[in-house]
Formats: sequence, C-alpha cells, structure tokens
Amino acid sequence: MEEKKTPKKPIIFYYVIVLIILFLLNSLLVPAMMRAQIQEVSYNTFVGWLEEGRVTQVETSDTQITFLAKNETDREGVYTTGRMENDDQLSERLLARPEVEFGKVIPRQNSPLLMFLLTWILPIVLFLLLGQMMARQLQKRMGGNAMQFGKANAKIYVQAQTGMTFADVAGEDEAKESLSEIVDFLHNPQKYTQIGANMPKGALLVGPPGTGKTLLAKAVAGEAQVPFFSISGSEFVEMFVGMGAAKVRDLFKQAQDKAPCIVFIDEIDTIGKKRDGGVMGGGNDEREQTLNQLLTEMDGFDGRKGVVILAATNRPDSLDPALLRPGRFDRRVPVELPDLSGREAILRVHARNVVTEDNIDYNAIARATAGASGAELANIVNEGALRAVRCGRDRVSQSDLEESVEVVIAGYQRKGAVISQKEKEIIAYHEIGHALVAARQTESAPVHKITIIPRTSGALGYTMQVEEGEHVLLSRGEAFNKIATLTGGRAAEELIFGSVTSGAANDIEQATKLARSMVTRYGMSENFDMMALETVSNQYLGGDTALACSAETAAQVDREVLSVIREAHEKAAGILRENEAKLHELARFLLKKETITGEEFMEILGKREPEA
Ligand code: ADP
Ligand code: MG
Ligand code: ZN
Repeated sequence: MEEKKTPKKPIIFYYVIVLIILFLLNSLLVPAMMRAQIQEVSYNTFVGWLEEGRVTQVETSDTQITFLAKNETDREGVYTTGRMENDDQLSERLLARPEVEFGKVIPRQNSPLLMFLLTWILPIVLFLLLGQMMARQLQKRMGGNAMQFGKANAKIYVQAQTGMTFADVAGEDEAKESLSEIVDFLHNPQKYTQIGANMPKGALLVGPPGTGKTLLAKAVAGEAQVPFFSISGSEFVEMFVGMGAAKVRDLFKQAQDKAPCIVFIDEIDTIGKKRDGGVMGGGNDEREQTLNQLLTEMDGFDGRKGVVILAATNRPDSLDPALLRPGRFDRRVPVELPDLSGREAILRVHARNVVTEDNIDYNAIARATAGASGAELANIVNEGALRAVRCGRDRVSQSDLEESVEVVIAGYQRKGAVISQKEKEIIAYHEIGHALVAARQTESAPVHKITIIPRTSGALGYTMQVEEGEHVLLSRGEAFNKIATLTGGRAAEELIFGSVTSGAANDIEQATKLARSMVTRYGMSENFDMMALETVSNQYLGGDTALACSAETAAQVDREVLSVIREAHEKAAGILRENEAKLHELARFLLKKETITGEEFMEILGKREPEA
C-alpha cells in the first residue's frame, strides 16, 4: 500500500508561517505581555497607595519606580511610575512602611536569558524544524530514504514467513541435496568442525530463468529455521557512490550479529559483473565499490560462525572471477531445466493447488513440454484452471491442460482470424510436410498433434513433436534429421504448389541455428573436425554466440552451413515425393478437421495405400 500523503504544500508556505510567528513574537506578543503586566500610574497614586499600605514590593532605578501593589479594587498588579527628582523623603517613606520589601519586582521583565531565548534560540529551532520538514519532503519526492544513508533494507525472513519447504520444489534433486547439506551444517555445526571440515562460505545457484532458484532459496529459509536475510542485487545499486558498499557492510554486520543465519542475494549479476579496466570513462564506480566491499566482507567473516551466503544468477559467465574463487562462492549449484520426470513432478506440485479431475495423465503433459521451465509449467496449470472456469466447469480436465500447453507455447487461438481457403491449404500442406518428414525418419520423434488454427503468437499452424525419452546427447544423424524435418514444410509447399511463401521464416531460422551449431560447435562437419569456431556466452539466456575465427574461415563456415541445410532440404523433398499420396490424404484430412492428433496421423500414415 502506498503510504498516505498529506497534500503537498510549497516550501514557501512554511517560510511564511515561520516568519509570521517570529513577527508576532517579537513585535507584538512580547511587548504586549509586558504592557499587560505593567501599568503606569502617577506618582501621586504611588504615594497614596504607599500610605494606604497597598504597596508590598518596590524596586527603584534612576528614573523609575516599579512596584507591586493592590489597586482600589484589591487586584494585585505590577505598576510603574516616574521618579520625582526632588522627593528626598522617598527612601524614608518607604522604610517607614514595614510591609514594603525591596527587590526585583518582575525578574522576567528584563531577564537577559529570556530575551536571548526568544530572539536567538527560538528562530534557530524553528529553522531547524523547517529544514527537517524540507528534507522529509525531498525524500518523499525522491522515493528513497536519503537520510538513512547506508542502511541495508534486507528483509529478515523466518520460516513462518516464507512458508516454503523443499517439498514445494519438485525435481532439482541435486540442488536440493547440495543445499540441505548447508541446512544441516547450520543445525549441527559441531558434526562438521569435529572432523575439520570447513563449510562453503557461499553457494551460487545458477540456471535459466524460471527454474526455481529463488524458490529454492526460500525453501532453504523454510527448512533451516534460522534467520534469513534476502536482498536483491539491484537493491545495492544506489543513487550515490558509496551507498551500495555501505549497504553491504551493514548487511554483513547484521548477519554476523544474528549468526547462524543465511544471507541470500538474488540476481547477483547486477553487482557482480566483471570489473573492466575502466578504459571507457572510468567504468561504473558505484558498482565496483559495491562488489569490492562484498568481496572484502566475504573474506572478512569466519565461515565457522555459521553465516552462509546464497546467491542466484542466470548469467554466471558474466560474474567477476574473484567472486567465484574458493573461499567465496565456492559451491556452484546448477538449477537446470527439468527433465521428463522433473516436469511431471512440477506439474503435480502445482496441480495440488487446483481442483482437477481424477484421471489426469501428467506424464503426457510432461512429454509434450520438453524444454519448459518450472515457471512455464506452473503457468500451464494455471492457464488450464482459467480455461476450466471459462468453460463453466469446476474441475480441470486433461484437455484443459493440453490446450494450455499450446497456449503457453504458441499463444491463444485466434478465433476471429480470417484466412482464405487457398492459404489454409498451403498451411495444411506445410504442416503435414513437417510431420511426414519427421515420421518417415526413424530417428525423429513422432508427432503429437498437428493444427492449423492460428495462434496469437503469429504461428499459423504447427506440429507438436513429442520426445519419447529424454535426450542428453544429439547425434549427428539426429541433428541432420531435425533440420530435414524443419525444411519439410517448405519442401511440401514447393512440391504441391510450385511456389514458396513466407510461412517458413521461423523454420529457416531454427534450421540455420542448428546447422551452424553442428559446424561451429559440435564438430560435426568434415572440413573442420573438432575445431571450435564459436564461443557461447550467456548460455542460460538464449545463448549469444560469437565467432572465434578469421573472416576467411567464417565464409567457409557459411558455405558449410548452407550445404548442410541444402542436403537436408533435398532429403525432405525426396521423402515427400515418395509419399505424395499420403501427403494429399493427410492434408485434406487436416483441412477438414483443423486439428489432428498423433494417433489419427499415424493411423492414416500406416494404412496400406490403395493399390494403383
Ligand atoms: P528463478 O530461477 O528465475 O528465480 P523462480 O524461483 O522465481 O525462478 O520460479 C518461478 C516460479 O516457477 C516459482 O514461483 C514456482 O511457482 C515455479 N517453479 C519453478 N521451478 C519449480 C520447481 N522445481 N518446482 C515447483 N515450482 C517451480
Ligand atoms: Mg529469481
Ligand atoms: Zn513450418
């Protein structure tokens, strides 16, 4: 919630208020107070009252007599009167009255202290208050806490607050094992110190986005039952140089006070990037100072005290090497994309939160989602639930989940899209072309589903392939077949319509990428053998490749890539020519039904061709 704000008033408003107060005090109030207290009376009255015994206290100066007296109505007050030059008997007269005391009548009247306070201290205090008010306004406007310099605002999580345990993290067993050792260390440190083992000071969770790194860290907090400081790397990056470093210092000080505890720095790459030589404009001073402070702090504390630092990143190769050396983040916990069983487990974990029908085949969904991250799988379950509600059902069904797989992969169906019959035909032949090439190559995965319903992602139709088992390795033959399958769509268009369309753009991109990897990275080309021609950075974020060879070689690489694709394209065209009758039959079937399943496809394909 946004904090409630009083309507903003311009600074000048406060100045005016203060000036008015000062003016009132100095020019009106003080004299008024004095005037209210001291009344001037004539000398006769004074003498008269003195005789009547009304005067009780008298103070004389060279020119004035100030006295305390009761007037005719018996009200006591302070009075003053001028001093008569020729009244020599004044002292005697005064002394004759026993009730009269001599001394200061109104000590306040000309108290130097009071005057000093009013004229000097009060304005200063007021201006200080004004200054504070201004600073607070400024702070609000900047949105930060500029006055709390260097305070780390790490939130402290305890178990009850995250509420996560390892049970909420499906799959990722290696990561969990590695982390539970750390949890165990925090509970029973003597077990480790007895044998002389040092616990790692820090563990770095690395992996693609959405694989559950942040989730794992929260689960550790839930399991460990020790204080858990969580801060994101970007929170260190501050407006002022030096602030980030101060925050790091403060964070570690807090952590050491609370040991045993866990400090979690999410997205550490924001501060942990490689420091450059500062050739270009001196580099980023603030970030470097923060990083240096972090390194210093990590060296500074005693690992046996029980402070464990977790960090997460999806760009490990951009981290400064100093962060990764032993004694700092010396343990690297990979959090990879889930495999088949991992995906199934993640689906099940998230399906616990929704009402489903009893006979859901999670394995089928998991098989259809090769390469999906935990976050995407969570999204699939949620989309399925949304779809069930949209359809007015109170349970999530298998088909809800299957449809939401496509939604997450390809976007929603574009129901309103108008596509001419001719174009629909082209799309149908294109998709069947992919599927047919895939099915006819033994090593390629069979199709799961083919559809020509356009999607919001821009796909006009697609073939969903299902990998039966998990592949860790890609053989040269498989890679080549994949490229052939990708070219199958275009090949079908050429064969049937004798022309080509833009519909193959995405296929071309993928085929080129794969063919290029075969040549430059997998060592699958004759000419280059096992020569690395490209380096990959940022493997978890799409993978940027950079050529690592001469321009001459680069040209040769291009030729090689082209020849691989060409060869695959020819293979696909050959397969389609051989199966032209099936191609027509399947395409017509798809046109009629718009979506066909893998079983339907295989059934038609397996049917004996009518003898010619
Ligand atoms: P990141 O690795 O980018 O930090 P998160 O930890 O933020 O990913 O994960 C995002 C969401 O994805 C989680 O909140 C969770 O719902 C889901 N998720 C990811 N991995 C898993 C997993 N292994 N088990 C269960 N849910 C997961
Ligand atoms: Mg995260
Ligand atoms: Zn295609």
